[in-house]
Amino acid sequence: MTRYQRVLLKLSGEVFGGGSVGVDPDVVSQVAREIASVARQGVGVCIVVGGGNFFRGAEMQQRGMDRARADYMGMLGTVMNCLALQDFLEKEGIETRVQTAITMGQVAEPYIPRRAMRHLEKGRVVIFGAGAGMPFFSTDTVAAQRALETRCEVVLMAKQGVDGVYTADPRQDPTATKLDEVTFQEALQQGLRIADATAFALCMENKMPMIVFGAEEEGAIARIVAGEKIGTLVSA
Ligand code: UDP
Repeated sequence: MTRYQRVLLKLSGEVFGGGSVGVDPDVVSQVAREIASVARQGVGVCIVVGGGNFFRGAEMQQRGMDRARADYMGMLGTVMNCLALQDFLEKEGIETRVQTAITMGQVAEPYIPRRAMRHLEKGRVVIFGAGAGMPFFSTDTVAAQRALETRCEVVLMAKQGVDGVYTADPRQDPTATKLDEVTFQEALQQGLRIADATAFALCMENKMPMIVFGAEEEGAIARIVAGEKIGTLVSA
């Protein structure tokens, strides 16, 4: 028996790009293999995909674009990542469905929560794209919301370049230390940046635990699902 039976995995766009713009097929196939190994154990897997490897609305706003329009472009970027991940998951023999918050019937199903739950019951991996379908939101927030609505037990936040929550930014402060566990309250009091504020608030209010871990760590997703303590557990 695994530690978790249903998880929501948040993959930021950076994970897809392997640090650069666009999709790196080698990286995506590696991530897909890991997800497949978890799905084969009968664990329900939902995935929310970011889009920062293509487009970030807030950055484009600073360079003169209308924020809402730039955000829609950002959301469309997430869908490309979803399709890449779907492709590599199916190559692993895993049935998947992509559901998007912006309707685009030719490439994906619309987001229908009850249908998503049904897919999970049938052992399909469900990939959520296009964020919330609304500008001024982030895919972190959508990860928290989808986890709650599809009754996942935990949000697994895969991060590029960092393997958990630190007492300070480890890239700037050499004295920063990694925390194995932290409560939402402690994180708030210490001003730790774990996810964006809306996502954090949603998880805290609804007691949805988060595990922040390094996307580069070998087999991390499977190990977490099996109960190994990797990264940082953030809980009530
Ligand atoms: N976005 C949005 N609404 C959402 C989710 C995403 O407007 O509900 C846009 C926003 O511009 C964001 C971009 O899509 O910058 C990519 O998403 P995000 O930055 O969350 O991706 P990540 O940082 O995880 O790669």
